[in-house]
Amino acid sequence: MNDPFEKCFVCGDKAPLLIRNATVNLPVCQTCQGSEAEKLAISTLQEGLAEGFVCGCI
Ligand SMILES: [Zn+2]
Repeated sequence: MNDPFEKCFVCGDKAPLLIRNATVNLPVCQTCQGSEAEKLAISTLQEGLAEGFVCGCI
């Protein structure tokens, strides 16, 4: 039940070492960090937030 690893918010992979993205306050893996996919995921999240109520849990 208790997940030892957080999921990368970009690729959804569970990785032992995730960096927290300061912009969206979500964990991102080293592979995705700084990638175009990360930027896209951030802008998608921010659009979602702008549209109204969004639960912070995934
Ligand atoms: Zn990732």
